Amino acid sequence: MGRRRRKKVKKVRRVAKTTRYFQCPRCGSFTLTVDLKKSENRGMRMALVRCGTCGLYCTFEVPEVLERIDVYNKISDAAYDGSLGEICGEVEAVGEGPEPAVQEEG
Ligand SMILES: [Zn+2]
Repeated sequence: MGRRRRKKVKKVRRVAKTTRYFQCPRCGSFTLTVDLKKSENRGMRMALVRCGTCGLYCTFEVPEVLERIDVYNKISDAAYDGSLGEICGEVEAVGEGPEPAVQEEG
């Protein structure tokens, strides 16, 4: 009796120590960045969302309690239910629909 069980200490490694890039809800590339900047309004911050691949660009105000991941969740939710354009204002449609054949020769 009295055998001691050795506790195995699991080292928890933080997988995403600096999650800089999120997956873009529009093009699916992991090139989406979320920046939080100061806002003129107290208790608020400006969220700046950009995708380096499809050119998604969004700025909107968020409560300052929100983290970047929260902002990202907002964006991906909005993209999911199709209201991304409302948040981002102008969202250019990229790679959708038939491209107009612009061919100039001569
Ligand atoms: Zn994108």
